[in-house]
Parts: sequence; C-alpha cells; structure tokens
Amino acid sequence: METKTKKTGMYENVQVQFNKAADVMKLDEGVRKILSSTNSEIVVHFPVKMDNGKTEVFTGFRVQHNNALGPYKGGLRYHPTLDIDAARALATWMTWKTALAGLPYGGGKGGIEIDPSKYSLAELERITRRFTFALGENIGPDIDIPAPDVNTNAQTMAWIADTFASTKPPSTRFTSMSVVTGKPVGSGGLEGRDRATGFGVVATIKSWAAAKGIELKNKKYIVQGFGNVGYWASHFLKESGAELIAVQDASGTIYNDKGIDPEDLFQYCLTNKGNIAGYKKADAFHASEFFAIPCDIIIPAALGNQITEGNASRIKAVLIAEGANGPTDTIAEEILLSKGIDIIPDILCNSGGVIGSYFEWLQNRRAEIWKIEKVLPLIQEKIDTAFNETVAAAKKHKTDWRTGAYVVALERIERTYKERGVFP
Ligand code: NAD
Repeated sequence: METKTKKTGMYENVQVQFNKAADVMKLDEGVRKILSSTNSEIVVHFPVKMDNGKTEVFTGFRVQHNNALGPYKGGLRYHPTLDIDAARALATWMTWKTALAGLPYGGGKGGIEIDPSKYSLAELERITRRFTFALGENIGPDIDIPAPDVNTNAQTMAWIADTFASTKPPSTRFTSMSVVTGKPVGSGGLEGRDRATGFGVVATIKSWAAAKGIELKNKKYIVQGFGNVGYWASHFLKESGAELIAVQDASGTIYNDKGIDPEDLFQYCLTNKGNIAGYKKADAFHASEFFAIPCDIIIPAALGNQITEGNASRIKAVLIAEGANGPTDTIAEEILLSKGIDIIPDILCNSGGVIGSYFEWLQNRRAEIWKIEKVLPLIQEKIDTAFNETVAAAKKHKTDWRTGAYVVALERIERTYKERGVFP
C-alpha cells in the first residue's frame, strides 16, 4: 500500500520532464508555449439518484491537453485522488504517449473523484451514465475517445458507449459506439484489448533485456497493483521464465521468495473483491518496505508518485518498468539514474494499451471484427518501433530513455505545427 496518496505534484513532474526534453531537442519556442498548457479543462457536477432514494452530486473531470495529431485519447479513472492536477498530468502524458506510438491521436484524461467501492453496481451504472451525459459533445469518436483506467473497466465503457449512442440520432447509433475503447468484445470491443497494456509492458522488458544482453529466465520481479495492468504484466513476464515474488495493492502487500503464481493469485482475487490481502500462499509484508525487496525488476502498476525521494535510494532492482502512469517522481528518477538503474518510461512502457485502443477504434470505423492472433502482433510491431526510436533518440542526444521518448514525441508534434501553422 502506498504510504502517501499524493494529490498534488503530478503536473509539476510532467512540466519538469517536458522542459528537460524541450531543452535537449531545442523545441520551437511557440510550440513549447502551446504544449505547456492544456487546451481545455472540463469540470462537471452532476446529480445521481442513490439506491436509498437520496440524490448525491458528483464531480467529474475531462482534461484535453493537445489534439494537434488527432482526437484526444485517454482513460477515465474513478478514484478519490483524482483532481484537476492529476487529470492535467495524465492528459499531458497521453499526448506524449500517442505521439511516441505514432498514433493519430492527442491526449486527454479524466474521471470522477470517488471511491467506487462505496457504491453498488447499479449506482455505479447511474453515475457513469450521468457523467457521460454531462460530458455531452465534449467526447465523441472524432473528438475525444475515453478508455478504461484505474477502477474502470470494459463494463464501464459499455455503459458510456450505450449512453452516448442512445442520446444521438439513430443514424449514428453504431458509429457512435467508437466514442470509447476498451469495450467488451460483444459490444464492439477488440479481442486482446484487455491484455494489451500488460502485453506491451512485457514487450518493452523483453526489448530492454535483449538490448542489455540479459536473460529474463529466473529473474525475480515484484508488481505494485494487481488490476488490469499488474495482472497481465505478471502473466506475460512469468511466460518469459521470470518469477513473481511480491505484490502490493490497495488492500495489502504479500511476499514469497519461492514465487507467487500470478494465475493462482488472480483466481484468489476473483473471490476476494479483487484484493490480494489474505492470500495464503505468501506472507503479509510491510507496505513501506515493498520497493526495497531484493529483486531484479519492479513493475509499478498502480498510481502515480509511488517511487519517491523517500524510497528510491533503497531500491535494489536493476530495472523499473513503468506500467502505471507517473509512478516515479522527478527527484526519485535522478536518484535511480545515478545508481545506474534503468527505467522504461511510462509513455513507452504502458503504451500497449492505447495502441490496442487505436486498433479497436479502427476495427469499429471499418465495421470489422478482428481476432486476437491478428491484434497482438500489431501491438508488438508498434511498441517495438517506439522502443527502438526511444533508444536511438536517447543515444543521439546523450540523455536518459524518458527524455529520449519525449524527444521522439515532441518532434512529431512540432513538425505538425510547423507544417500547418497556427490558425488564423
Ligand atoms: P485497475 O483499477 O485495474 O488496478 C489498479 C490496481 O492498483 C489495483 O490492484 C489496486 O488495488 C491498486 N492500487 C490502488 N491504490 C493503491 C495503492 N494506494 N497502493 C498500492 N496499490 C494500489 O487499474 P489499471 O487499469 O490496472 O491501471 C493501473 C495503472 O496503469 C494506472 O496508473 C493507469 O493509469 C495505468 N495504465 C492503465 C492502462 C489500461 O489499459 N488499463 C493503460 C496504460 C496505463
């Protein structure tokens, strides 16, 4: 469990990372100004009828950072720490992530400031539908395309798509379904989108291992967050012969030096409201000591600002693969790099998710149904390209991989502004 649920500071991290890369690549001054702020920030307060008959008012956000390359794209998060600062940071990271992956998208992010565990399924459905209605024309298949994030899933996306499509003219009903990605497969979702992010995380770890001449077999890894990203990353890394030895989620921390089977833990979570606490085949462990566990690879796959000045110096792993968005703050990053620890930056490491989303959007627009055998190699190809471009840019500019990844993304956006100019 994280010791601090930091509500502020994520956007500061983005700005530090951005300015470092902009300096390295000598980004055009006008483009730097444009990208230093968000395009639009939507805050909605909307009423919902609760199961007990009372009315509650909720606050939702959608921040749209930049759409130079295409419609805004990014997840919706239901979490008490979601505020405008977090939404700005996460939206900005999406702009870099989509540009790095070579997708025709910009960056957006949002969600609702709630603890969803406090609401019934029926209440969550009404909250989601009313939030969708409140966002109105600010989202759409050519405008802004949300996707799942923390505490939202395929079911959430199905409710959004149905609400959005149901409030549009019948002639656009089916094209409207592509307002979101990450839908269930029976509702226009893409086979393989469920595992796309974790698959991509492990694809980048394999590329890192190949680049460093490291064998993944028998390497020990620990994972923070055992939701969509954490579970699938654990699943695919285990397939590479590496061994999961510790997991932390919002309910607790567990450790077993002899190995934890991700599939068995996943089955346990299904019977335990998605939580790892109480799992009998591993010992409960001190939350604050999690990142100090001796291991080779750490996969943070929960919230932002988890690896900080307070714990970075005690990390013994040789690689941090950022499944989560913004898990490492900028001070911690300096400490890790000075210790020679490699970091696969979030905008590269977890980009398999948005790449999968892009293929879902394409599938919907072409009215096709794709098979997983087709989808995973397509994701692999795009993420491998982004990995190679990141490493090449870092080498060219003699900088770290995060800055290298930013440079690739920023060059694409800068080129667009140079070609098209600024209206009027
Ligand atoms: P999820 O809701 O499926 O899982 C979140 C996990 O984090 C849960 O296991 C939860 O218990 C754990 N968690 C929450 N608070 C915690 C805390 N304080 N300490 C430790 N663990 C905590 O969410 P997800 O979709 O797996 O997303 C996880 C991260 O990956 C987020 O940062 C998200 O932005 C990022 N991400 C997700 C996707 C995607 O496709 N879902 C894509 C790219 C990036």
